[in-house]
Amino acid sequence: MCGIVGYVGARECTEVLLNSLSKLEYRGYDSAGIAVFENGEIKTQKSKGKIADLVAKMDSEGKLMGHCGIGHTRWATHGEPSDINSHPHGNANVTIVHNGIIENYKKIKEFLEKKGYVFESETDTETVAKLLDCFYEGNPIATIQRVLDEVEGSYALGIMFRDYPNRIYAVRKDSPLIVAVGDDEAFIASDVPAVLKYTKKYYLLDQDEIAVLDSGRVEFFDDHGAPIKKQLLVADFDEEAAKKGNYPHYMIKEIHDQPTAIRTTITPRITDGMPDLEECGMTYDRLRDYNNIFVVACGTAMHAGLVGKYVIEKIARISVTVDVASEFRYRDPILTDKDLVILVSQSGETADTLEALRLAKRNGADTLSIVNVKGSSIARESDMVIYTHAGPEISVASTKAYMVQLSVFYLIAFALAYANDKMTAEECRRLTAQLQAVPEQIEEILKTPEDCQYVASQLVNAENLLYIGRGLDYALSMEGSLKLKEISYIHSESYAAGELKHGTISLVTDEMPVIAVATQRDLYDKTISNVKEVKARGAYVVLVTHDSKEVDNDVADCKIGLPTIDDLLMPMTAVVPLQLIAYYTSVLRGNDVDKPRKLAKSVTVE
Ligand code: GLU
Repeated sequence: MCGIVGYVGARECTEVLLNSLSKLEYRGYDSAGIAVFENGEIKTQKSKGKIADLVAKMDSEGKLMGHCGIGHTRWATHGEPSDINSHPHGNANVTIVHNGIIENYKKIKEFLEKKGYVFESETDTETVAKLLDCFYEGNPIATIQRVLDEVEGSYALGIMFRDYPNRIYAVRKDSPLIVAVGDDEAFIASDVPAVLKYTKKYYLLDQDEIAVLDSGRVEFFDDHGAPIKKQLLVADFDEEAAKKGNYPHYMIKEIHDQPTAIRTTITPRITDGMPDLEECGMTYDRLRDYNNIFVVACGTAMHAGLVGKYVIEKIARISVTVDVASEFRYRDPILTDKDLVILVSQSGETADTLEALRLAKRNGADTLSIVNVKGSSIARESDMVIYTHAGPEISVASTKAYMVQLSVFYLIAFALAYANDKMTAEECRRLTAQLQAVPEQIEEILKTPEDCQYVASQLVNAENLLYIGRGLDYALSMEGSLKLKEISYIHSESYAAGELKHGTISLVTDEMPVIAVATQRDLYDKTISNVKEVKARGAYVVLVTHDSKEVDNDVADCKIGLPTIDDLLMPMTAVVPLQLIAYYTSVLRGNDVDKPRKLAKSVTVE
């Protein structure tokens, strides 16, 4: 959600800013802009629409030339997407780009209007730009600190002062921002892939720390203005990992990345065939400590938690509550120091999940995060962290991040079950070995996508769709349904198969295809009865089940078969055809698969 970049160094900076912004496009945005020091003056170019629209504007107006600048892709929160509302904001003295929301912007605006400031845009951001201008007395750091004292909300800011040409100031709170360094050049960016073309070395900015970037050096100051030293980090993936390669879209590439992502995530956490989470702080002693577990997350990550709930409750017999982070925060949850709260977020910056984590800590619960981005806010603030190793996920619709989140939930469930004497070491080893066999099975499934392509061709004109399943299949079908909605824009819902007849079956006609997932053998016959109910009402039925199951034509119109593995692990393989069906349907509908409309990748606003 929103991208911030900045560059200072010997290169032509417009080029660098545009390139870096293009690497952040996946986050979702509706307008773009840059500001560059040109002959000592701050010049701005911005445009509603895509980066290509900004480039077109540059082609007609002339490119800004300089060696220091900031850039932004905006995901509008205050004011419609328009040229005026696009960032950067400011005046000849001070210009900024901002990610986040200034919650008290109205109050600040009133204060500034009384002082004679006139506002051009509807954004909350413009109040920060003007407040910086208002407070400025020659010392940028003191000015920024004074402004931060007044501002409430979340922000990542890139700032340029006319008096300090070829210098960028940066600060963040609850919105991501990194500072990267190359040879005699420095960058700011919302995340690492934006700068990988130039450097792999970067620093993480902590809350309210201020960075000052000059071409030759970067300095950091704490929230009292005292200079501080920070640890230099090196990205463990390169530009190639963030590229599409020969795939037409990131999403399909990332679906194919899944076997490797699982292996890289689970292998370091298995010792002698047993799950080993000690390095992440999850000792067996600690695992015996919990009365209740809460999983708190948003979107796809929350769906991974739902599968986790079924698995943990089934084999470890510990009660698990799954909450949407934006609800958990406001429902005054009952937490004790005997509870474990698991926060799941690909980016580690999801605003609601971050606040849920803080709430859990305030209430004394232990917190564990499952996060893909090293050093992200959620990872840093939680008591324990298990990093998933999916590599950069660029497609807005998450696939491989979900997959590795699932694999971590399995490891946690196995470890919990064993630690609490609900499972023998032998059974734990058997299940762990089954988990290790999943990547190979996914590779097999990916070799023959034709069935999923065929199903997509049958669904492409549907306006509504139902996913049904029971137990783990129900948890999984929620993710299948979300995937389809996100990228195909077909309305779909996921229903517990047994619940359908209590209302929703009234919607089932020959215009309502149904995707039924039936991988749990103990529930198979019951689910098939529900499948027959929808078939009898005219629905076109796709059944996702084991290869070995014979399926009659009067049960389903099309069967997608899956290789055999322990039923408990079936969600990991069964999700793959659901991802493929969503992907091919989106492609057939001519949609922008990797950047679906209105969506953002890393949701850093509440
Ligand atoms: N709240 C700001 C705006 O609407 C920044 C949005 C963003 O993070 O892109 O302009």
